[in-house]
Amino acid sequence: MPELPDLEVIRENLAARLLGRVVTAVAVRRPGLVQAGPADLSPVLGKTLRDLTRRGKYLIFQFGENLFLVVHLMRFGWLWHGPSRYEVTKATTLVLSFDDGTDLRLIEPGSPQIAGVWLFSDLSRAEPLAKLGPEPFSPEFTLQAFSQALRGKRRMVKKLLVDQSIVAGIGNAYADEILFWAKISPFRYVHTLSPIELERLWKAIPETLRWAKEEIKARVGEGLFDKEIRDFLYVHGRAGAPCRVCGTPIGEVLFEGQRTNFCPRCQNVSQPIA
Ligand SMILES: [Zn+2]
Repeated sequence: MPELPDLEVIRENLAARLLGRVVTAVAVRRPGLVQAGPADLSPVLGKTLRDLTRRGKYLIFQFGENLFLVVHLMRFGWLWHGPSRYEVTKATTLVLSFDDGTDLRLIEPGSPQIAGVWLFSDLSRAEPLAKLGPEPFSPEFTLQAFSQALRGKRRMVKKLLVDQSIVAGIGNAYADEILFWAKISPFRYVHTLSPIELERLWKAIPETLRWAKEEIKARVGEGLFDKEIRDFLYVHGRAGAPCRVCGTPIGEVLFEGQRTNFCPRCQNVSQPIA
């Protein structure tokens, strides 16, 4: 699933290509894709793409003055941009055609197809965005706010990092990387973290995400991608491989269907909970 660093690169690269372009056609190709607004998304027709922003794992396309198309790629969705003359594949669930002869397509290979699209005229009423915690790069994401959000929680620290209401945009892969960076075991309970550990964790969140965004950008340049680029990660997806810092084999635990990777030594993991 794309997480904040992936989506930031997609957002930047799409904005460079599409801002100022006018929508000449729109086709919704899967019933149920549109979660809010007219099912055919016809209001965006003839509108200019004014802005492309991101909130958590949602991309927000602003058309005209006050029309916001919110897109969540979920697990397998990805965005394709290229010439409109290219054949539309079966897995394409949304096509937006622009006045420069290009299409932006939402592609969902395989099943289930669970990506979601919402159309709002007022973003403050956008229900999926209302539940999100602060953006890790925003001034609102202070140590004080972060500590406050964790106060009284008796949950594993990794669970809290992927909770979008605590901080927005982090998923399974970057939660592992952030915890490695912060030298904290993913199995620790948040109420057992010392103030120093808490501060280290808070700092590691934007630092890790910024680093990852730059790594991805360095690999794709102006391009888009249909699969997350994760070859540079230190722990996630590297079970059994030597830690890039200390050489200890990276550990892995499957927990509620989610893969958690960690360095037993760097993160001082004694007894992982299976
Ligand atoms: Zn290590």
